[in-house]
Amino acid sequence: MYADFTDYQGTYCGTLITTQGQWMPAVREACAYLDEEGRCSIHPYRPGICRLFPLGRYYENGGFSYFLQTGECAKENRSKIKVSKWIDTPDLTRNQQFTLQWHDLLHAMEERLTGEDEGKQREENLLLLRLFYLLPYEGTIDFYTQFTERMEHWNGQNGQI
Ligand code: SF4
Repeated sequence: MYADFTDYQGTYCGTLITTQGQWMPAVREACAYLDEEGRCSIHPYRPGICRLFPLGRYYENGGFSYFLQTGECAKENRSKIKVSKWIDTPDLTRNQQFTLQWHDLLHAMEERLTGEDEGKQREENLLLLRLFYLLPYEGTIDFYTQFTERMEHWNGQNGQI
């Protein structure tokens, strides 16, 4: 566990972006997993945001839809592909449930922090980053199970269960 995010930023070439009072990790310059040929060296295990690009999500009525960010990908001669095939994750239904849970958690946090002072925002953001990003996930245990446990812990801390 990191005392603060100075260590995180040095270790992972990452940075933190802030949106509506929330801090999120982001890649600074080039991703550390790009190989010499400009390909992803962890392609089968790439993060969800990499699987999604250049799609985006639009959240509405307790669910979400996908949309194509037409200006984001410079590749020419693109062909049609189903979203499920593009995202290429073993259990898309579970992945979508997880996506909604994560979105709801962030949305609730955003509402809770609106109008709070900087100290409170910092405290809660650090807790979120440590719990969901810095605490290692166990490779032998299903990711969604571990995420659910962490979410329950988070909700318990924030009085949501
Ligand atoms: S797909 Fe994602 S993890 Fe892989 S190199 Fe690109 S940014 Fe990095």
